[in-house]
Amino acid sequence: MSIVSLALFGAALIPSQDLLIFGGTIRPGVHESLDGRLVALEPVQAMLVQDGWIVAVGEVDELRRQGPEVPELDLEGMVLIPGLQDAHGHLLGLGEMLEQVNLVGVESYGELIRRVAAAAKDLPPGAWIQGRGWDQTRWPGAEFPHHSALSEAVPDNPVLLERIDGHAVLVNHAALDKAGLLGAKSSSPDPAGGRILRDPAGQPTGVLIDRAMGHVTRWLPPAKEADVRRRMLAGVQKALSVGLCCVHDMGTDRLSLKVLAGLRQEGQLPLRVAAYLPGNSLLGPGELLQLKNLGDHRFRVAGVKLMVDGALGSRGAWLLADYEDEPGHRGLGRFEDQDILRLVRICAEAQMQPAVHAIGDAACRQVLDAFGVVQTEIPSLRDLRPRLEHAQVVAAGDWHRLRALGVIPSMQPTHATSDLRWAEQRLGADRVRGAYAWRRLHSATSPLAFGSDFPVERPEPLEGIYAAMTRQDGKGQPSGGWLPDQRLSAAEAIGAFTRGAAFALGEENTRGVLKVGFAFDGTVLDLDPFELDAMSAEQLLQARVLLTLVDGEIAFDGR
Ligand SMILES: [Zn+2]
Repeated sequence: MSIVSLALFGAALIPSQDLLIFGGTIRPGVHESLDGRLVALEPVQAMLVQDGWIVAVGEVDELRRQGPEVPELDLEGMVLIPGLQDAHGHLLGLGEMLEQVNLVGVESYGELIRRVAAAAKDLPPGAWIQGRGWDQTRWPGAEFPHHSALSEAVPDNPVLLERIDGHAVLVNHAALDKAGLLGAKSSSPDPAGGRILRDPAGQPTGVLIDRAMGHVTRWLPPAKEADVRRRMLAGVQKALSVGLCCVHDMGTDRLSLKVLAGLRQEGQLPLRVAAYLPGNSLLGPGELLQLKNLGDHRFRVAGVKLMVDGALGSRGAWLLADYEDEPGHRGLGRFEDQDILRLVRICAEAQMQPAVHAIGDAACRQVLDAFGVVQTEIPSLRDLRPRLEHAQVVAAGDWHRLRALGVIPSMQPTHATSDLRWAEQRLGADRVRGAYAWRRLHSATSPLAFGSDFPVERPEPLEGIYAAMTRQDGKGQPSGGWLPDQRLSAAEAIGAFTRGAAFALGEENTRGVLKVGFAFDGTVLDLDPFELDAMSAEQLLQARVLLTLVDGEIAFDGR
């Protein structure tokens, strides 16, 4: 089955349901008040859904008269809010992580080694061990590890362990050997946009950053379609279980597209997925046009993901001035200005929305410059709503440019609360004011779209709402919040996970709010998040997702 032929599949394969909903608190979402603030809409008593669309709102008895045969959902006191969206996630990565050695939260290098060695016991020699989630900033000393201790504990299996941000790997001796990075070749130069960290003897330490990861990843056994399907389904189920109705999947590769389209065709895709093609590797204009119209309202190709720098934790984010904690180093820019300009131009010509990963202030500026130049040539780029993914460190002089250019800040509140322990060390007191500064970057024409970047962070959107409202980590640190002037209200934070995310897809007139004429995607919780403020938001960390509904159908039931 070729990818192109999938564009022909019909839209009516999953029967969308009719439903009468009542009996709890129904929160229709947020809207913009006359003074331009995002505020909560008033609760309603009941809602009538036909074929997945909201057709009436009002008193339950009246709606029952309108739809006498309609199945009923009594919320029994639960709280319904518009379906939460993750505007930046990686479904396959999430499914993969569920199958790999989980290193999230590991507190020392010794603990990492114990977990990997335990996994090695069950495997034949030579079989790859993959893991994900380590973060040396949590360990005593906070230094990058050297592979020697790991290689001693796990000598017979090649090991590849992704850092929490996905922008660095730790590999052992067997993996370095496979990659030909030992002995005479240990002095092979760093690839453009990547670093091979070395010890004082000039040998690789086992830590490979950004493009240098390719030295080892190219030796991994290729995933088969059945593997991708199994992992994709696991990622979809996980997303639904945390209350997500829609995921903007960033960098959906060819095989994933084929698998997602196949699942949709078979009626096996209960989650809404908006796919962004991996533009750095797959970007011929002809190919883009072929894929552009693939899909339907449940699964579709929405745009193109590009990536211009690395991440801050591994000092791959590209900065205008030196890292505060590594003089002489400014991170890794992947593109010359004219290259990113060319890629954005290709997107604009194909009328495909660009979504560009940029973390450092130099990367953000390069992308904004490219958006600006292409908009003067092709004004309709603005209507495509170009997206700046992460927008983590934006120079003060560029804050207003997102609004001026109509660029969507697509941000991840839990990145801020994971990084707050060390972000100021990397950036210094001055630059940090423009870091994770979501309040400074958005406007009515460029509203915030929030996500988690799972599996880099946990996929739970309630944790993201908590982080946006408090700017505190899961332990409530620091008290009062980190750079608290950037905290958001409940309505603003929920708005970015619903209406703002829908706006980023150009779907603000059909999704993101529960109103007549809109699609019915809903998340049902055991508390009302609109009632919370920064002091009480920690309740979100204990809240339960009871139901996830997509197109009027129950896609996850956690009651
Ligand atoms: Zn990402």
